[in-house]
Amino acid sequence: MFYDTHAHLDYTDYAPDLTEVVARAQAAGITKIISIGTSLDSSERAIRLAEKFQNVYAAVGWHPTESEKAPNDLRPALREFAKHPRVVAIGETGLDYHHLPGMSVTHGGASVPATRLVSSLAPPTQSADDARYKQRQAEVFQQQLEVAAEFGLNCIIHQRNSFDDTLAQLKLFAGKVRGVFHCFGESVERMKQVFEIGSLVSFTGIVTFKNAQNVREAVAAAPPDKFMLETDCPYLAPVPYRGKRCEPAYVKEISETVAQVKNCSLVELSVATCKTAMEFFPKLS
Ligand SMILES: [Zn+2]
Repeated sequence: MFYDTHAHLDYTDYAPDLTEVVARAQAAGITKIISIGTSLDSSERAIRLAEKFQNVYAAVGWHPTESEKAPNDLRPALREFAKHPRVVAIGETGLDYHHLPGMSVTHGGASVPATRLVSSLAPPTQSADDARYKQRQAEVFQQQLEVAAEFGLNCIIHQRNSFDDTLAQLKLFAGKVRGVFHCFGESVERMKQVFEIGSLVSFTGIVTFKNAQNVREAVAAAPPDKFMLETDCPYLAPVPYRGKRCEPAYVKEISETVAQVKNCSLVELSVATCKTAMEFFPKLS
C-alpha cells in the first residue's frame, strides 16, 4: 500500500481513460492519490475529481510559472476551496526561476539571448523584467502561505533554480506552515536545510533513472519519517515506462527502487511513507 502524493489527474492527458487510471492505481495498491491544482480552474477540477473518486484528494493552488496570470488577490477563492473536506493541502506553489523573461527567448528551436532592459538600479545580472517576474511569484507564493496558515494546511512546494529564495520565504512561516519540496533533486546538504525548518521532501520516478545518482543519494540520506512518494504524473514516468505517460499506479515501481536504495522492505517503506503523509496532510483520512 502506497500513496501518490502528487498527481495531475485534471490534465487533459487523462481525459480518455481517467476512470481506468484511477482503478489501475487501486489495483496496484496505490490507495490514496492527491490531485494537484495549478490554477483556480485546475484546483476546482481537482476538487471535482476528489468528490467523484473515493481514493482521490485535492490540493488547491497556483503554480509559480503561471504567476503572471494569477488574480491580484488569490486568497478569497483559495479560502473557499480550502474549506472543502477533501482539500488536504495548498499548492502547488513556490518559486521557479528556470525561465526568467530576461534570460533567453526561443527562435526556431535555438535559444538566443534576449535584449535586456538595462536599469541602473537593477543588479547587472538581473534585468528589470526578471526582478518583476520574481516579485510577482513571491507575492502569489505569499498569498498561498497565508491561506495555508489560516486553515492549518501545509503547502506543496515547487522550486526550480530558486532553492534559497523558496526556503527563505517558507521559513517565515515556520511553526505555522510546513512544505513538501516535491520532486526533490537537490543535494543532501539542501535536503537537510529543508528538514531544519520542519519541512519534508518527496521523490518521483526520477529515482529510477540511470543518471539520477544524486537523487538516490538524497533518498539514502533521508530519514524514514521525512519523505513521501509521488509520481508528478503525467510527467516523469519511472523505468520501465520512461518517456511514456505516467500514472499513479507507477508509484509501485518508484517504491521498489526506493526500498532497494534504503535497503528496507516494501512493508517498512509503506508504513513509514503512509504515516508521514497522514501526518503532513491532516485531512487525508
Ligand atoms: Zn506538479
